[in-house]
Amino acid sequence: CGIVGAIGSRNIVPVLTEGLKRLEYRGYDSCGVAVLKDGALQRARSTSRVAELQEQVQADGLGANLGIAHTRWATHGAPAVHNAHPHFSHGPGAEAPNTKPGHIALVHNGIIENHEELRAELQALGYLFLSQTDTEVIAHLVDHLYEGDLFAAVKAATLRLTGAYAIAVFCAHEPQRVVGARHGSPLVMGVGGVDAGERFLASDAMALAGVTDQIVYLEEGDVVDLQPGRHWIEQAQAGEGGAVAHVRISEA
Ligand code: GLU
Repeated sequence: CGIVGAIGSRNIVPVLTEGLKRLEYRGYDSCGVAVLKDGALQRARSTSRVAELQEQVQADGLGANLGIAHTRWATHGAPAVHNAHPHFSHGPGAEAPNTKPGHIALVHNGIIENHEELRAELQALGYLFLSQTDTEVIAHLVDHLYEGDLFAAVKAATLRLTGAYAIAVFCAHEPQRVVGARHGSPLVMGVGGVDAGERFLASDAMALAGVTDQIVYLEEGDVVDLQPGRHWIEQAQAGEGGAVAHVRISEA
């Protein structure tokens, strides 16, 4: 339903929760926020109001300079805390050969139509599913395709997805990066907040009102790499023979 993401040099959690509040009018059944703190994925989720989530965040001391947040309108899986976003990847564990422990946090708007096929494939690889959502397959898929470059992993994951999505993702191994992608669901990027280096993502520019008025409307197939003081956009385009490749659209 609603997405907010942020990266900067101050504590951006208030930007995330205030952004969710600005999206509340759209309706939702649950909400959540995830940050990267001391190298670890941390989150708070609630089936109550965003105000209650804000209290949880304060009680847990969930401050960070990078994070993502979501208001959910359930399509797959009942409204419940374990189905609320952000979702984390749960890989087969470092002890198994050729596998990696979970390190991806992700929020999603939309519906993944081939989620059953992807779930079966990822379960066979040892991925653990802790929700009934279609979204959790994206977190695990990005984890599975991750080889040290989150932007590359998200691009590769989008080539496997059918359906509609706007996503925002971060990785425990890359504390200077938030990646977004859209196909069939809206997503915008905000540039510059209290300082020019801040970057934001939102499903609706309204979520960033009061934060920045420099909005870049992402287009179908766009994948965006947000880093402090820098962003980079590529777009999926079908080439000869229908093969999809990502081409650079803009950078700053
Ligand atoms: N399909 C996802 C879910 O049910 C996302 C729903 C949304 O857009 O909020 O969790």
